[in-house]
Amino acid sequence: MSVTSSNNRTLDILAKAEAGGYGVIAQTCYDWGSAIGLVRAAERTKSPAILQLFPITLKYGQGEFLQFCLDVAHNASVPISVHLDHATDEEQLELAVGLAEKGIKFDSIMVDASHADTDEENIALAIPWIRRCVAAGVATEVELGRLEGGEAGLRQIEGNIYTDPTKAEKFMQETGAHILAPCVGNRHGSYKLFPGGPESQWKFEILDELSTRFKGRVPLCAHGTDELSDELFRKIVKSGVTKLNVNSWCRDPYVETLGQGLLSKPFPEAMEEATEAFAKECERLFHLFGSAGKA
Ligand SMILES: [Zn+2]
Repeated sequence: MSVTSSNNRTLDILAKAEAGGYGVIAQTCYDWGSAIGLVRAAERTKSPAILQLFPITLKYGQGEFLQFCLDVAHNASVPISVHLDHATDEEQLELAVGLAEKGIKFDSIMVDASHADTDEENIALAIPWIRRCVAAGVATEVELGRLEGGEAGLRQIEGNIYTDPTKAEKFMQETGAHILAPCVGNRHGSYKLFPGGPESQWKFEILDELSTRFKGRVPLCAHGTDELSDELFRKIVKSGVTKLNVNSWCRDPYVETLGQGLLSKPFPEAMEEATEAFAKECERLFHLFGSAGKA
């Protein structure tokens, strides 16, 4: 059986986003409070969303925490899927795919072999995992090219490799993956080392070529969205990217509010305020990406 937008929640959300010309937030959640904040915001704003975990969070919370995320996402009044970001190592992939085979299933998993030295090696590493994901009904995201930088528990990468659109076609065909995360100058973490900021790094000619080529077939995912201006976010959505990975935008107000609150308030009260701080930033991004009111 193949995994398509008719039988997979992530692919369905992204297909509708492409048809409707809007972007969907794929928000990194580190704990139950952030997961609840995202779901609350999506329900209030009537927006679809993707609840995203890093492998380090899955390792910490195991299948029980994944099951919690699946329950809050899938029982929401709006479409929300659960995605695993950047599964690079065998141990991480075995945990996630093993859980899927036991019925605790991410809707989609990023099988990230972009650390490979060549595209051929990237494909060879990814294929066996993609096959197992497909057999379990899980959609897959892959990265072609290589993003610089690092985030929580991810490898620190020096020197990016831009995605070649003609190679990308072959890559998607050979891997059978469903979502493409290209490298177009985007990077993980801060852009502060570039005097021109993120605007000076994103190459829209590559993104435009990829979105023309893959229209209606392969959704595109933007990684590395820290410090992006509203204008740049709008441009990315306009260029046809439907999955927008977000981490620090919502995480930072959450942890700041929680830390401050705990100095003088009982835990549940501080947690409530932090959850709202997280939700408020999610809501701002739903409006910015155009997904508000689309669910
Ligand atoms: Zn990423």
